[in-house]
Parts: sequence; C-alpha cells; structure tokens
Amino acid sequence: MAKRDYYDILGVSKSAEQAELKKAYRKLAIKYHPDKNPDDKEAEAKFKEAAEAYEVLSDADKRARYDRFGHDGVKGAAGFGGGGMNMDDIFSQFGDIFGSAFGGGGFSGGFGGGGRPRRRKGSNLRIKVKLDLSEVMNGATKKIKVNKLVAADGVTFKQCSTCHGTGQVTRVTNTILGQMQTSSTCPTCHGSGQMIDKKPTDADHNGLVRKEEVISIDIPAGVEEGMQLNVSGKGNAAPMGGVNGDLLVVIEEVEHPHLKRNGKNLHYDLYVSFIDAALGGEAEVPLVEGKAKIKIDPGTQSGKLVRLRGKGLPSVQSYGKGDLMVNINIWTPKELTKEEKKALEGLRDSMNFQPSEDHGEKSFFQKVKDMFE
Ligand SMILES: [Zn+2]
Repeated sequence: MAKRDYYDILGVSKSAEQAELKKAYRKLAIKYHPDKNPDDKEAEAKFKEAAEAYEVLSDADKRARYDRFGHDGVKGAAGFGGGGMNMDDIFSQFGDIFGSAFGGGGFSGGFGGGGRPRRRKGSNLRIKVKLDLSEVMNGATKKIKVNKLVAADGVTFKQCSTCHGTGQVTRVTNTILGQMQTSSTCPTCHGSGQMIDKKPTDADHNGLVRKEEVISIDIPAGVEEGMQLNVSGKGNAAPMGGVNGDLLVVIEEVEHPHLKRNGKNLHYDLYVSFIDAALGGEAEVPLVEGKAKIKIDPGTQSGKLVRLRGKGLPSVQSYGKGDLMVNINIWTPKELTKEEKKALEGLRDSMNFQPSEDHGEKSFFQKVKDMFE
C-alpha cells in the first residue's frame, strides 16, 4: 500500500507553519481518537497515520528530509521503524499537543497529559510487634507470621480493552469554547493498562490470593512504644504486577515489672528500711539484664536519687546509653511487735529523729527539673 503524502494527511500546504500543523493534527486526533471510535479499524489507521505525519512534519530535520526524499527520507526514523507508530508513542506526544493547546489554565494533565500506563502499588500492611526491655536494649530479629495478598501462580494479563493499554480514558465534551478533552484514569484497569486474561479460581479479581508468610524483621535497639518501622516492599502485592506495598511495624513495649522507661533513661523505685537509711548499708537494684548493688550512705533521706550511668537504654536517634535513676524511698513498717514498739518509743523524743528543713536534699521539683536538663 502506497503511503499517503504527509501534507495531504494533515490537510495543510507545503508551507504550513508549526501552529497550523498542530491545529490540523489536533483536529484529526480528536476525530479519530480510539475512545470515540471503539473497534473501528479504519479510524484507528487514520489516527496512527495522522500521528506519524505530525511526528515527521513537526520536526524540522525530518521534515527537510521528507521534502527532499519523500517517505524514503524518513524511513526508520525514531518512533515508527516497522509498522508505524505505536499507541504509546502517540499518546506521549499528546502532552505537547493538547497541553499547550489549552494554555496553563486548569488543564494540565489534560488530554493524554500523563498518557502512559501507571504501575499500581499494593496496600500497606500494619502489624504490631511486642518487645520487652531486654529486646529494646539489644535490638531483636522477630519472625512474624503475616497474612498477605500475593500474586497467584498462573495469572496472565492482556491489554485493557477499555483504554487499549494507555491507562487513561478520554471524554470529548462540547462547551462554548469548542470541544474540550478531558482524560481520567481508566476505570477498568485503574491506570495499569492491563487486565487479567486467565487466573486460577481461588484468585481474586486482581489475580491475588491470601497467603501466610513468615517475615523476618530486624528491629534496631532503642525503639519505643508507638514507633513505626517501614519495611519497604513487604506489604500486599499490587494488582497487575505493580509494586508491593510496605509492611508497617508498630512497636509495642511490654512493661517491665520493676523498671519504668523514660526515653533512654530508666527509673527504679528502691525502698530501704529507715534503719538502713540511718545507719547506711547496701541495696540491690534490678537492671534490664542482671542486678547491681548500690551503697546506701548513712543518713540517706527519702527521695534521694542515685544515678547509675550507662545502665539505661540505647536510643535510636543518638549515641550512647541512658542512665538508670534509682529513687530511694524510706520504707515505714506497717505493723510493729510489742518489742519493736517499745524500742521505737524510746527513740521518739530524741532530737535526731525530728525532721528538719535542712536535710541536704534538693526539693522534688528541682530533682525532676534536673533530670530533664
Ligand atoms: Zn484500562
């Protein structure tokens, strides 16, 4: 079949300028657009023919060669080596043609503006992971069973019949300004340009099946309650071979029976008898791992804070470990034997047992303030 003259195809003279070419092509593209002429092979051929003519004539170099040598001069030029231009090329050309045609005003992304198929992303999965303080201290590798959507075996795809693989559908509307084209994501394939050809019976309409999978997650040391780790690509599979969603791992902290956490510092409430507080002694303090002994100075007041440096937790944001703050409380016996009562009665009037304002300890307020500075 002899090729028609490019100028004839577009219906312009040999001296036509760029603006005129564009206008002529736009008219034809709208007239023969596949969405307006579904299953019309002749319209499709005309649509492709016009695109090819415009591709050559709008390029100064190709146009010069075409003018001198005819179709032979542009044979094998980019875009249509063998059987003419393909639809992808044509639609990618549209951004230029129609984007500028409507000016900047509210029509960006208009007709074929984003005319290439979009890769869809799978949905994110969210799971909770419980950690105790020792795991927070050292970091942990957790193997977690996740029920997620994966691509079923034996699913095959074909080009979407609604949008012919472009991922976009175009509507032409008549307005007082003339015909306007709007394009939107194809409702059939949601922009992927593909639809399912064959699938196993247990797969859903996206070709996905639910499957239990054990995922190993490395959790860094120092994480805190409510923190979220993003494991990229471990979420649900995407329809039509798109990108997997992410796995969002939310940290849940198991409370320690004795130690309270405040960022990277730990707090422990230690109770000592008033005898040990008065005479001095030793006490045992639980750590995240193991125990520590601390000295109780003679004359220790209730509310005294002892800082065990580096016995706190690491932090995900900073270097070094926090401290363990030991809050010393004086334990008052709740019940007394007769003998104990008698012994204490004998001490009641001793001046040394009377509270004094000057106990050498900072106020509670000041201590809390110091702790956070
Ligand atoms: Zn489609």
